[in-house]
Amino acid sequence: MTETEGENVRHRNGDAATDAYTREDMFDDTYKEKDGPKPPRIVVWKNVILMSLLHIGAIYGIFLIPSAASLTLAWSLLCFLISALGVTAGAHRLWSHRSYKATLPLKIFLATANSMAFQNDIFEWARDHRVHHKYSETDADPHNALRGFFFSHIGWLLVRKHPDVIEKGHKLELGDLKADKVVMFQRKYYKLSVLLMCFFVPMFVPWYLWGESLWIAYFIPALLRYTLVLNATWLVNSAAHMWGNRPYDVTINPRENSWVTFSAIGEGFHNYHHTFPYDYASSEYGCRLNLTTCFIDVMCYLGLAKERKRVSRETIVARIKRTGDGSVRG
Ligand SMILES: [Zn+2]
Ligand SMILES: [Zn+2]
Repeated sequence: MTETEGENVRHRNGDAATDAYTREDMFDDTYKEKDGPKPPRIVVWKNVILMSLLHIGAIYGIFLIPSAASLTLAWSLLCFLISALGVTAGAHRLWSHRSYKATLPLKIFLATANSMAFQNDIFEWARDHRVHHKYSETDADPHNALRGFFFSHIGWLLVRKHPDVIEKGHKLELGDLKADKVVMFQRKYYKLSVLLMCFFVPMFVPWYLWGESLWIAYFIPALLRYTLVLNATWLVNSAAHMWGNRPYDVTINPRENSWVTFSAIGEGFHNYHHTFPYDYASSEYGCRLNLTTCFIDVMCYLGLAKERKRVSRETIVARIKRTGDGSVRG
C-alpha cells in the first residue's frame, strides 16, 4: 500500500497515527466479510500432536518443581521474563507497532529473547499482529475472538488459516520489517536460534553452573517456562478480548483485564491498546503494573531506546467521553 492509499483507509479511531506502518495496525472498517458458507476447518494434526505433547510435558514439569534447586526455579523465572520481553517489548511494541525506536544492541537482545519465546519469527508475528489489529474480530483476524475462547487462545494455531487472513496479510505494508536487518537475520536463522535459545540455553545453564539434572533442566526452565509464556501471550488474544471493561471504546471487543496484565507483563490494558495501538506504554498508566513499559523506560534511560510515542491526556479524555463505556478506569 502506498502512502496515498494509506490515507484513504478509514479508521474507526480517527486519531492521528504517525506513519504508513503504524497505520497498518489501525482498525479498517471498510473490510467486509465474504458472504456465503465459511470455508471448511482443516485441522493441522502435526500441530495438535506437538501442542498436546508440549502441554503434557509442562504438566509433568509442574510435578518436578519440588525436586528442583531454588536456583533453577529463579533461572526459570528469569527465562520467563526475558522471553516474555522478547514478545511484548520486541515483536509487539517495537516491531508490530513501532511505538518506540531501539538501538542495534537492544534490537539484538530483543530478537534473541524473541527466539527464546519461540512464537514464530518476528516478521511473521508482526504481520499476523498487524492483521489482527486492522481486521480485528473478522474472518481476516488470525485469532478472531468471535470464534470463541478456545479458537482465539490456541485453536487458531491448530487449523489452517482462514483464506482472508492470508490474503490480507499479503497486502499489508511490511517494508519496515523487510528493511530491518535484525528481523531478517532472525528469520533466516530462526530454527537454529530457537533450538539454542528456547531449549539449549535454558537447559545448559542450570546443569553446567549448579549441577541441576538435565531431566529437570529440560522440563522446568525449557518446557514448562516455554508453555507458560505461550499461554500468557495467548490470554491477551482470548481472555482480554472477552472479559473486562471498555473505558475507551465500547464498540470494540478488546477489554481491560488485570489478570492478563499480570501474566503478560503489562499487555492486559487491551481496550486501551486497540484504541491507541501506537502508544509505547500500551496503557493509560505508564509503568503501573506494566513491566514491559518499565523495561522500555529503563532502556531509554540507558540510551538504548528513544522516541517513545504516547497519547496526550486530552486525546484520551476526549476519547473516553466519545466512545467509552463509562466504567471507572484502572
Ligand atoms: Zn487484540
Ligand atoms: Zn498490538
